[in-house]
Amino acid sequence: MAIATDREYGLFIGGELTEPAAGEVRELTEPATGALLARAAMAGEADVDRAVEAARGALDGDWGKTSGTERSRLLHALADAIASNRAELAELESRNVGKAISSVKAELHQAVENFRYYASAIATIGGRANPIGGSLLFYSLKEPVGVAGQIVPWNYPLMMATWKLAPALAAGCSVVLKPDPQTPLTAIRLGELAAEVGFPAGALNVVPGDGPTTGAYLVRHPGVDKIAFTGSTKTGGEIMRLASDPVKRITLELGGKSPNLIFADADLASAIPSSAWAIYYSAGQSCEARSRLLVEKPIYDEVVSKLAELAGAIRVGDPLDKETQMGSLISTGHRERVHGFVERGTGEGAEVVAGGAVPEGAGAFYPPTVVAASNELEIAQEEVFGPVVAVTAFEDEKDAIRIANDVRYGLMATVWTGDPARGHRIAARIKSGTVGINMPYTAFPGIPFGGYKQSGFGRELGLESLELYLETKSVVVSTGLRPINPFGL
Ligand code: NAD
Repeated sequence: MAIATDREYGLFIGGELTEPAAGEVRELTEPATGALLARAAMAGEADVDRAVEAARGALDGDWGKTSGTERSRLLHALADAIASNRAELAELESRNVGKAISSVKAELHQAVENFRYYASAIATIGGRANPIGGSLLFYSLKEPVGVAGQIVPWNYPLMMATWKLAPALAAGCSVVLKPDPQTPLTAIRLGELAAEVGFPAGALNVVPGDGPTTGAYLVRHPGVDKIAFTGSTKTGGEIMRLASDPVKRITLELGGKSPNLIFADADLASAIPSSAWAIYYSAGQSCEARSRLLVEKPIYDEVVSKLAELAGAIRVGDPLDKETQMGSLISTGHRERVHGFVERGTGEGAEVVAGGAVPEGAGAFYPPTVVAASNELEIAQEEVFGPVVAVTAFEDEKDAIRIANDVRYGLMATVWTGDPARGHRIAARIKSGTVGINMPYTAFPGIPFGGYKQSGFGRELGLESLELYLETKSVVVSTGLRPINPFGL
C-alpha cells in the first residue's frame, strides 16, 4: 500500500477538481503518527456559490433530464468504481481518520452495497392514482427536492457521504457535499470517481471547509432546497436555526448515548465480546456506540471483570496493520476532550475499571476504557465520543427500561436476553430509532437508521431516506363532459 503523500486534493465542483477562490490549502497529518498525509483545498463562500450554481445547472440541464433507469445504471457504475478502487480508498480513509483498516474495509463494503441498494430502489419511486369521486381524478408525481446541501462529520467520512449521496442521487437531486475539514480526502475521490463513470457535471460537488463559516453559508444559501446534516446535537440545533430563512427541508442525524442491556439470562459468550465491539469499534467515535452498559445485578461483577479483561486484549495500534482492531482517535485535541470526561467522571465518583490513562508516545491513541458509573453522572449522560463505556447495574426489567430511557438521546439500543418475549417487550419500550436483540450490529443498507429525541429526525438508509429527497406533487383533473361553473354564473 502506498498512496502519494505529496498530492494536493482540490475542491470538486462542476465535474472537475478546482482551486479554491481564496487559495486556502491545508496540510493534513495522520492522527496515528503525526506524519504529513496530503494537502487539501478548503472552500470558502465563493466556492460554495460556484458549487450551488453547478448543482442548479445540472438540475436544469443533463442531470435533470436523466431517466431513472440511467440514474440506476450510474449508481451501479459508481458502486463498481468504489469496489475497484477499494485498496486506495481504504488506505486513504484509514490514514486520514486513524481508523483500523479492517474496520474501514467493512465500511467500504457497505458503501458499495449502499449505492447498489439505491440503484435498485429507484424502481420504487412512483406516485399513486385514485378517482376522487364524480369526474375528478387524482394522481401524484414524485419529483426531486432540488439541490441538496449535505454536511458530514469526520468519524466515517466515506460511509456518511455514501449514506447521503446515494439516496439523493437516486431521487434525482443534485448535491453539494461538505465534508469535515479534517477528513475530506475520500469524499473528493468519490466526486472524481462519479465524474469518471459518467455522472453529468454538477450532479455531485464536494466542498470541504470549516463548519461555522463554509458550512453555515451552505445551510443559509438561498439556492439550496434541503439540508441533510450529520453531526453533534449542538450543531444540529444551529442548523435548524440557519435553515429557517429561507425555509429549507432538513434532516438531522445527531449524537447518541446508546444503552446496551445485559440480562442475567443472556448468552454471555455472545453478549460480553459483542458489547466490547459495540463500544470500541471505530475507537468509540460512532454515533451509535453503545456507550452505556446496563447489567442486571446478579451478573454485574462477572460482566464487568470479563469486559475489563477483553478491553485489555483489544489490539490497539497502527491503523494500517490488518491485525489492528482499534486505531487512534481523530486528533490529540479530541483525546484531551475524551480524557477530560474520564477525569471529571472519577471526580464525581465513577471508578475506572480498565484503561483511562493517556499513553506515552506519538499518535492520538487512547486505551479501551471501562468506567463504573451511575446513570446521572456526566460520563453516563453526555456523548464522550471515544473508547469509554459507562457501566451501571439494574434491578429488573422495569428498572432497565427506566435507566435506558433516562438520557436525552435516542439513537440505538441493544438488548441481550435468553427470553425472546422480553427482547420484543423491551424493543417496544425503548425510545430509540433502532433496537438490536441479541446482536450488536447497527446499520444495513435497506434498514432505516436515525434518532428519537435529541438524536435527530428523519432517517438515513432504507426507502425512508429516498422519500426525504422527493417532493410529492398532487395533480387533480376533471374528466367530466359538463362545463365546470362553481358559482353558477
Ligand atoms: P459537528 O457537529 O461538530 O460537525 C459535523 C459537521 O458539521 C462537520 O462537517 C462540521 O464542519 C459541520 N459544522 C459544524 N458547525 C457548523 C455550522 N455552524 N454550520 C454548518 N455546518 C457546521 O460534529 P463532529 O463532532 O464533527 O461529529 C461527531 C458528531 O456527529 C457526534 O455527535 C456523533 O454522534 C454525530 N454523528 C451522528 C451520526 C448519526 O447518524 N446520527 C453519524 C455519525 C456521527
